[in-house]
Amino acid sequence: MYFRPEILAMAGYVPGEQPQAGKFIKLNTNENPYPPPSGIKQAIDECLTRGLQRYPDPMANAFRTRAAEIFDLPSKDWIMAGNGSDDILTICTRALVGAGDLLRLPYPSYILYRSLAEIQGARWEEIDFHADWTLPETFAKPADGLKLVFLPNPNSPTGTMISRETILEIADALPCPLLVDEAYVDFASFSCIDLPKQNEKILVSRTLSKSFGLAGLRFGYVVGQPHMIEQLIKVKDSYNCDSLSIAAATAAIHDQAWLAENRRKVIATREKLAAGLAQLGFEVIPSEANFVWCTHPSKPAKPIYEALKNAKILIRYMNYPRFGDGLRISVGTDDQNDALLSLLASLVQA
Ligand SMILES: *Cc1c(COP(=O)(O)O)cnc(C)c1O
Repeated sequence: MYFRPEILAMAGYVPGEQPQAGKFIKLNTNENPYPPPSGIKQAIDECLTRGLQRYPDPMANAFRTRAAEIFDLPSKDWIMAGNGSDDILTICTRALVGAGDLLRLPYPSYILYRSLAEIQGARWEEIDFHADWTLPETFAKPADGLKLVFLPNPNSPTGTMISRETILEIADALPCPLLVDEAYVDFASFSCIDLPKQNEKILVSRTLSKSFGLAGLRFGYVVGQPHMIEQLIKVKDSYNCDSLSIAAATAAIHDQAWLAENRRKVIATREKLAAGLAQLGFEVIPSEANFVWCTHPSKPAKPIYEALKNAKILIRYMNYPRFGDGLRISVGTDDQNDALLSLLASLVQA
């Protein structure tokens, strides 16, 4: 076989189902149920009018400049853009973790991190969350070959968070960078976007996929001290973001009023979803993201997932060794939420 042994040995990351046809109520991959800010259409139209024969700005400077203002960063040199935040995670892993090195992640969390380590021929180590969703001290311990630590905050699939104080303590104790993955932070009560100013080891990644309703566009970014960003830039593809996505992403983050209103709606529906699930006897982890994790004490999760799918409601069934299985349900519109809860009522009360 032609491929590197690391590639042959790995299973490959499997993203959530993306049915391209059929009328599903789609609550399985934490997309935003609402259309994105209206300004992006004009931004894309203007881009098309200018034409696409030229390469895009390799650094996405229009976006970086606007984002630096919004996040009160000293300059655009604190930001690097990526083709979705998965691209950012890939770039960071490639830049920091070599063959035989060690990558650390909490457990349970985003499965992709392991695949990124495997592609590098690196080792990975999972540190289990405590029962109260805090992290043990071992998460911050130096270890042989440790080169990068990932921390999704809010975490997926739980929607729980680690405090800013703890994140600063972890970064202080670690011998390597700590990448705080803030894919869901716009639905949370606090963020760490300013913490790279306090510790050069802290990198913060963000995406427009979840909170801006732009998962189909592919745009993410990372914030870090300029000398850290400078090294990451060497690893990215020259033109990792296209002209259309740079223009649309710049227009999107400009509309902070849209973001605030969207956040308000999603959080309100999230609280209704959590309350509705609890009323049906589900155990629901309090979530700061746009999804909730739930289990039922007497009804197994997988048949519930399957029955919902047959009724054209798609949620995510997940089974984590040591942690158990359960359902991760994305927050939809109020109508989608009502449809979900009434079907669930018929399933668990049957
Ligand atoms: C969705 C998600 C991402 C990736 O988002 P992109 O669409 O690639 O920007 C990154 N991290 C976590 C934890 C996610 O859930």
